[in-house]
Amino acid sequence: MSLIELQSHSTVSDGQLPPAGVVEEAATAGVTTLALTDHDAVAGVPEAATAAERLGVELVPAIEMSCVHEYAEDLHICGYWVDLEQIAPACERAQLERRERAGEIVENLRREGFDLTLEDAIREAGAADSIGRPHIARAAGASGDLGPFFEEYLVPGAKAFVPRRWPSAEQAIELIRDAGGAAVIAHPYWDISAPGEVEDLIRSLRPDGVETFYPPHTREQTAHLLALCEELGMVPTASSDFHGPTHKTFAKFGDYDTYGLGEPRVPARP
Ligand code: AMP
Ligand code: MN
Repeated sequence: MSLIELQSHSTVSDGQLPPAGVVEEAATAGVTTLALTDHDAVAGVPEAATAAERLGVELVPAIEMSCVHEYAEDLHICGYWVDLEQIAPACERAQLERRERAGEIVENLRREGFDLTLEDAIREAGAADSIGRPHIARAAGASGDLGPFFEEYLVPGAKAFVPRRWPSAEQAIELIRDAGGAAVIAHPYWDISAPGEVEDLIRSLRPDGVETFYPPHTREQTAHLLALCEELGMVPTASSDFHGPTHKTFAKFGDYDTYGLGEPRVPARP
């Protein structure tokens, strides 16, 4: 039996476990092929690779890049098989922009009456290379299910939201490919709800694959993505987006449904 899990997060971005802990959790759950895809960061990959070798799990070196697109102010693109040194400058720039954006979001939250500073958010990020909105939410006092706080303050259109400015989706794909990687659009129906926009996004960006099997994707959405992959010669991938054992939404491996429609695959090393 194979179990493919091509998206997961560690304490290097907004996950709960260190990289080796993510791999241990995956091995326990029977994952056979894993990618650690920290947001805009690859510092956890070497530790994950060592743990994976010890535990007999195949580890694909990877990253999840946040980017902007006209259909989604927050679109995620995974890069598999990226060369860690070649992708490093893009990570550094993205991490710097994340800190600047965090400062602006903190200012907006202060205007809304929250008593927090950027330093509080940085402290909340702990060992993470990539500070993100979950860290800011917790620094502002949110806990447990961050959903309601996100909906009120941190999603596009909400009171304290600040859009990302770089990279565009096209640039993210180019950065991944220039670093020797295969570019896969992550969870399209998580970021975009209109099927026409999802289809247009995939047809225009022409990634190497699409994350087709994903816990929140419905049967209909999964079938749509699978049909597009078949038509366009793209690889349908899968993940449960593991963020840690007590994460409110993404807490376990093996959580996605194939609905019996097909099987996920791993993008070939370019
Ligand atoms: P950022 O890296 O700042 O773009 O934040 C992305 C992270 O925020 C994701 O990995 C999720 O963990 C979290 N997130 C995004 N949208 C929501 C939401 N509506 N509710 C709760 N968490 C969310
Ligand atoms: Mn993602």
